[in-house]
Amino acid sequence: AAMRESRIKKTKTVCTYCGVGCSFDVWTKDRKILKVEPQMEAPANGISTCVKGKFGWDFVNSEERLTKPLIREGDVFREAEWEEALALIEGKFKQAKDTYGPDSMAFISSSKCTNEESYLMQKLARGVIGTNNIDNCSRYCQTPATMGLFRTVGHGGDSGSITDIEQAGLIIVVGSNTSESHPVLATRVKRSHKLNGQKLIVSDLRKHEMAERADLFIQPKSGTDLVWLSAVTKYIVDQGWADEAFLMNRVNGLDEYVKSLDKYTMDYAEQVTGLPKETMIQVANAIHESPTTSVLWAMGVTQHLGGSDTSTAISNLLLITGNYGKPGAGSYPLRGHNNVQGASDFGSMPDRFPGYEKVADDAVRAKYEKGWGVTIPAKPGMNNHEMVSGIHAGDVKVMYLKGEDMGMVDSNLNYVHEAFEKLDFFVVQDIFLSKTAQYADVVLPAAPSFEKEGTFTNTERRIQRLYQVFEPKGDSKPDWQIIMDIANRLGAGWTYHHPGEIMAEAASLMPLYAGVTYERLEGYNSLQWPVAADGTDTPLLFLDEFPFPDGKARLFPVDWTKPLEYDEEYDLHVNNGRLLEHFHEGNMTYKSKGITSKTPNVFLEVSPELAAERGLEDGTLVRLTSPYGSVKVSCLVTDRVKGKEVYLPMNDSGEGAINYLTSSYADKDTDTPAYKETSAKMEILKAK
Ligand code: SF4
Repeated sequence: AAMRESRIKKTKTVCTYCGVGCSFDVWTKDRKILKVEPQMEAPANGISTCVKGKFGWDFVNSEERLTKPLIREGDVFREAEWEEALALIEGKFKQAKDTYGPDSMAFISSSKCTNEESYLMQKLARGVIGTNNIDNCSRYCQTPATMGLFRTVGHGGDSGSITDIEQAGLIIVVGSNTSESHPVLATRVKRSHKLNGQKLIVSDLRKHEMAERADLFIQPKSGTDLVWLSAVTKYIVDQGWADEAFLMNRVNGLDEYVKSLDKYTMDYAEQVTGLPKETMIQVANAIHESPTTSVLWAMGVTQHLGGSDTSTAISNLLLITGNYGKPGAGSYPLRGHNNVQGASDFGSMPDRFPGYEKVADDAVRAKYEKGWGVTIPAKPGMNNHEMVSGIHAGDVKVMYLKGEDMGMVDSNLNYVHEAFEKLDFFVVQDIFLSKTAQYADVVLPAAPSFEKEGTFTNTERRIQRLYQVFEPKGDSKPDWQIIMDIANRLGAGWTYHHPGEIMAEAASLMPLYAGVTYERLEGYNSLQWPVAADGTDTPLLFLDEFPFPDGKARLFPVDWTKPLEYDEEYDLHVNNGRLLEHFHEGNMTYKSKGITSKTPNVFLEVSPELAAERGLEDGTLVRLTSPYGSVKVSCLVTDRVKGKEVYLPMNDSGEGAINYLTSSYADKDTDTPAYKETSAKMEILKAK
């Protein structure tokens, strides 16, 4: 019995399913997962987790895991040894660089991988290859929020902690299905709302669970959030409710901004958004009456033509009302993947080094050139949207992508797949043979979070360590080791033995993480950035100043961009989002038995009105067609949606995958796809 018990092991890890960043102990025996046990000292979640964190881990032992490198031969893959795969990559990378130059190569980092791995990926692109063509999938979700915050308050992250959200007098949730996308965080809001008298306003197209609970639920027309937000802000200014002292001492640009609000009268907003004036005035009153307001938002805001501008409008509203730099107040763009924040923090962006310092800044570039002993181009690189068109144009020839199912999650998939087919050489590194990997020339088997060490940074800027639960399965390896192997084949001479050494190097170069060390993150310890060299961290941002030269925030005037219009032919608006039980395209969750057994198949939510008009019932099989492609899916009639709004969860990787319908239109400031501006026509394939 003693022998048997000694094989039982307890390891602390961090959940990889969403940006809340729950941490917990995993009990294992050999490769068997006995239980997931959250601990009181877990900083983001305490003793809570959601269904994914509790039961979503069988995929680690799935028979479908990649355990050997794969090399394409014609239409099929054959297994290979690392030596052969790496030699092939070395040859092709050198050839592309020599023949077409470094900018013919493109690199995609993963927001599911660790901070250290994102750091190495951008170091490989910039320092070894010599290109800034590096991006990560926050381009698909949260880059517009980061842009809105950079413009106004200077840091692209949640301004406080989850505990601040709990303390807020008023929570406004805009375009976020929080209960299904950020379950444990939503539970905190629900509890504060129920027990502590916190007020809750929800704005969404769809009446999801948070909307059901809200004190006020508003359903503006799709893509019009900027208009009601600006009208509410103008109303507050006109009533004399702006926080004068805060504006005088801590904010620039008031006059010009107030002038820019002129057109956002209640009449105009009513006409554009479809919301009654009285409702918008109710929102303004609620903000005025509450001691503190926090705004939570997600992809319902960002994935539009004007996603950055709407994010900016949210921050402007918070500045006008003095809702920054105090507990319970602030901006909370809710990060989707577990490490969306970290992937960007560590420079997997075409225009920013780690810590968001600009590539175009000579002094910053000189710092990295000295630190790495290389030269780095000054010109910002391509983002992932530009990479796809760059491949079509023949400018990008080689792509190295890790841990990202771009061939499923990017918009306008038929166009993306055609691009993959045009590449001269395509390397995909993943734990499964994803849809994207099927287009690769070489597939490299990576290790998931349970099989490596590293750190993740959650939505509240909290940096946490994960420890290794299992050895990598088969011949798979942690991503950081694979990237180092490739870099060294190209002559880099990297000698990292442990991710802690990578963090030490990164921290020495990026002021945002200056005081981050593995020792300070031991066990359940965590730090929230910025972290000063002495280890002091910052749970609540902007207490004394904003990170601009004069320490003041900036009001930033924005204008409304009209969303794409539907026409008579493509007459339905197709909204999309998450389901609680699944994660994105389902690469991990569809392979976890504890989860698939609890979940329905993907379905299309249709309104009772549309069902009556078209003769749809639960289970009716329909085809939706947009100008870009089509999907097949069965209907579910529900009053969560209304009129010609339909809702397709984004969790199907087969014939129902939403991105066969979406277009290449994107946020004008960041190129984030306008996923939420999709229209389609419907035909019935089979009645129930
Ligand atoms: Fe994981 Fe998010 Fe669920 Fe926490 S709330 S257990 S981080 S999926």
